[in-house]
Amino acid sequence: MTDIAAVIVAAGRGARFGGAVPKQYQRLAGRPVLRWSLEAYSRHPRVRSVQVVIDPADTALFATAAQGLALRPPVAGGSTRQESVRRALEALASDPPHLVLIHDGARPLVAATTIDAVIDALARHQAALPALAVSDTLKRSDDGTRVAGTIPRAGLWRAQTPQGFDFATILAAHRRFAGEEMTDDAALAERAGHAVALVAGHEDNVKITTPDDLARAERVLAAIPDIRTGTGFDVHRFSAGDHVVLCGVRIAHDRGLEGHSDADVGLHALTDALLGAIGAGDIGEHFPPSDARWRGADSAAFLAHALDLVRARGARVLNVDVTLICERPKVAPHRAAMRDRLAAILSIEPDRCSVKATTTEGLGFAGRREGIAAQAVATIACMSPIPS
Ligand code: MG
Repeated sequence: MTDIAAVIVAAGRGARFGGAVPKQYQRLAGRPVLRWSLEAYSRHPRVRSVQVVIDPADTALFATAAQGLALRPPVAGGSTRQESVRRALEALASDPPHLVLIHDGARPLVAATTIDAVIDALARHQAALPALAVSDTLKRSDDGTRVAGTIPRAGLWRAQTPQGFDFATILAAHRRFAGEEMTDDAALAERAGHAVALVAGHEDNVKITTPDDLARAERVLAAIPDIRTGTGFDVHRFSAGDHVVLCGVRIAHDRGLEGHSDADVGLHALTDALLGAIGAGDIGEHFPPSDARWRGADSAAFLAHALDLVRARGARVLNVDVTLICERPKVAPHRAAMRDRLAAILSIEPDRCSVKATTTEGLGFAGRREGIAAQAVATIACMSPIPS
């Protein structure tokens, strides 16, 4: 298999963007712009290693953006982009990959398919880049207020990244032309006489240069639904008592349910479903049975806590569905009240909540009326991606 490394260039100061924080560390949908670029490569199955080049002044910002990702230690950038890229390539040279993809850290929305297209082109060419044909008429202006001329757009393309190369070829070009500043890495390959292939770029692979670009990237991400689902399951056994609590509703019964809290098996399953949807562990972790605080507790507090965690991650509950599994008590007369109670705890419309019941035809522990089981599903929508 071809050994592929990525170089992500994030050492720029972004003078055109303004603000105290460099543009690659500005937040995009709740996470640093650079985080998106880092994930695009570190999660790409064909990329073995990721070498980032940063400004040492941004070390703390980078550590936050790179948290939890397996990357090579960052390299300190030089005084120009070209010098920064060369340093990253030199860092890779001790264990050289076959191919290298050089990517702007400020292009957060690069698609895996674009990365694939560049890699595929490198099977036939020593260099390749994604590009888009220029469709707007091009005007030249010397002062930004008056047109000085029209430039024919035929044959003009907008270059994006990643720009992909045979590693030895681009390293040699960078060494040879060190100090001769060129606008991108492909220009070095062209200068060295290598053919550079064009592959299809993507309009969403925008380079964040101005606050308008950041707003546009936010709109692109907002258009991609991030829907998540979690499931929960719980069982409580019957013991002596005169009522049970199911989905927040107290029901008179000739037995009670055993448990540390109010033993609301429905709310427990649902709490686990919400926690599952955000990857936040399970109910036992958040409310250990060993903790005296939860003795006899209203399980609505558990569900409300899980809801808080969902909201803290920028997500909202789309719908929940609980199935209670028991022979007795009869659930049907209480279903509407249960659904309304779930809607109230979750602050969502009742038609986004469902409570169903079934028996097990006399089979198993539920059939023998030894206890009640519940299963639940919760679906949530993330307005911004859950930070990992
Ligand atoms: Mg339980």
